[in-house]
Amino acid sequence: MTLAQERTLASKVRADFPILHQEIHGKPLIYLDNAATSQKPLAVLNALEDYYRGYNANVHRGVHTLSARATDAYEAARDKVQRFVNAARREEIIYTRNATEAINLVAYAWGNANVQAGDEIILSVMEHHSNLIPWQLLAQRTGAILKFVSLTETEEFDLAHYKSLLSERTKLVAVVHVSNTLGCINPVQEITTLAHQVGAKVLIDACQSVPHMAVDVQAIGCDWLVASGHKMCAPTGIGFLYGKLEVLRAMPPFLGGGEMIADVFLDHSTYADVPHKFEAGTPAIAEAIALGAAVDYLMAIGMDTIHAYEAELTTYLFQRLAELPEVRTYGPKPDANGEGRAALAAFTTGAVHPHDLSTILDQEGIAIRAGHHCTQPLHRLVKAQSTARASLYFYNTREEIDGFIAALKQAIDFFGGIFG
Ligand SMILES: *Cc1c(COP(=O)(O)O)cnc(C)c1O
Repeated sequence: MTLAQERTLASKVRADFPILHQEIHGKPLIYLDNAATSQKPLAVLNALEDYYRGYNANVHRGVHTLSARATDAYEAARDKVQRFVNAARREEIIYTRNATEAINLVAYAWGNANVQAGDEIILSVMEHHSNLIPWQLLAQRTGAILKFVSLTETEEFDLAHYKSLLSERTKLVAVVHVSNTLGCINPVQEITTLAHQVGAKVLIDACQSVPHMAVDVQAIGCDWLVASGHKMCAPTGIGFLYGKLEVLRAMPPFLGGGEMIADVFLDHSTYADVPHKFEAGTPAIAEAIALGAAVDYLMAIGMDTIHAYEAELTTYLFQRLAELPEVRTYGPKPDANGEGRAALAAFTTGAVHPHDLSTILDQEGIAIRAGHHCTQPLHRLVKAQSTARASLYFYNTREEIDGFIAALKQAIDFFGGIFG
């Protein structure tokens, strides 16, 4: 992508995000906390408003016109998500509140029925707490054993160590696709193939991959894949679980209630087929429809275009960070083409505590994250109590990276001057 093409893309998309055009403490907002949540384009905001103004009604229940319109839009959004991740069938997409709920769904519904004492579950040390605690709870319920894939010297997924952990005792492998802290992109296809060779199931946490690159569940071959809408331009309160049809059909229900049944008697019930078996109660209708609008929006730009643009930004971000010798980044460095890692940088600076840094940068209108980013075990492992993190999306620009680096340099110089 040439610089001119980049500028055109950024200026075109920025007009779609009203929130980006404001000042914070008198400075233009520079939003660099996209790994926590993304901003929402007008198309998504309009989808929410259109539903509530025009056809708010419950889905799958009424035969009246509004209910039929709501149901059509809700189910059409499922088709969009199906195409977005290239699932073979629309029934393989289950709406959830977020990725966390999707993982818990699998841990309870599949885990309780299939995992026994002594079974092994392989995770990695870089997992988000959402892909750790549900498995800790399952292990506590069942007596299963958790095993953790360690990091290589470049702070990436250690494939050799993973291979050494796999055995016929392995029941499940649950790993993150793109780390929200290290930014590394894990070889999920190979991870899946190897797990299947020992008869284990595979769950992929795709929270940080699906917003930024084309993800194909059939190419990966995983049994489940989870993501949150709010990190891919959709509202909060909606996410999805992809599962292979035969795997989902074999799973007992998770939550019981309306919508998920076939026939109900006082003492027992039969259940609807997937996806409805896993969508008990009135769902987040507006949010699901808006997730469909977000998918339309992303696909109209093109996931490959988004990925290519973000690779350029990644190159530039790491180039600029390298000018500051005090800054230590985590995870692999991008290659010459900006590939090999995500468009985010978790870092420490020595002199300035990440929380202080985040507060100082906020005074300049710059939003970055400070803390453990829900990867506390990983932070312990790399001996950082907390890190600062700047995470980019396709609406960020080189000028914003310049603004961030200038403010960062100023903060380091200031604190270095006092304490150095
Ligand atoms: C954000 C995130 C989650 C959790 O997402 P929720 O929307 O909070 O459920 C899980 N894994 C990764 C890698 C994430 O970045």
